[in-house]
Amino acid sequence: MVVSARQRYPSGRFEHDKSKPQSKMDRQPRTRNRSWDALQPVLTNRWSSLFSAALEKWKEDQSLVGQGEGNCSAKIDTKSGVEVVGCFHADTGIHAEIDAWLKVGDTSKVKKINISSAPCPRCAVVFECLGLSAKVYHRPSSSRGGPSWGYPEAQRVELLTLLCAGVLSGSEIDKYQDQIYNYFVGLAWKP
Ligand SMILES: [Zn+2]
Repeated sequence: MVVSARQRYPSGRFEHDKSKPQSKMDRQPRTRNRSWDALQPVLTNRWSSLFSAALEKWKEDQSLVGQGEGNCSAKIDTKSGVEVVGCFHADTGIHAEIDAWLKVGDTSKVKKINISSAPCPRCAVVFECLGLSAKVYHRPSSSRGGPSWGYPEAQRVELLTLLCAGVLSGSEIDKYQDQIYNYFVGLAWKP
């Protein structure tokens, strides 16, 4: 008597059993039902790891001038020799280095990122996600992170996709956009 896998293991799932088409539900990633509470530690872990990794890569440069945290300035030297300047925007909370980065908008063009104070944890994670941490030069200072931080509304989904890459599904990012953004900005994840 030939016993099929399904008969032998009636309660199991069979990867190679094509006899019955999988339902739409079966094809969804297992992560589809995670709650916001379940996602927070996942994001904390990702962002705190990225922040720690970024800290190792920056270089200090005593010659960089600026007002320091809260009033810092940034300049990105591009490979084509153009210098792109950024400044802190009190109205939107956009930090100087993010302001400069948004004007460049292409990681392959970035040669050096000069900042008048160490990036705050949020800017640090963004640059680490972009693979730009090794290009960061800053005036010696701590990187605590002030209360305000912003990213342009129109580019927020792009930002969240970057911040959640590899740990959240697209549908989770869609579902929890505001929570993810506010959690990131609020720094509760900071090591
Ligand atoms: Zn910042």
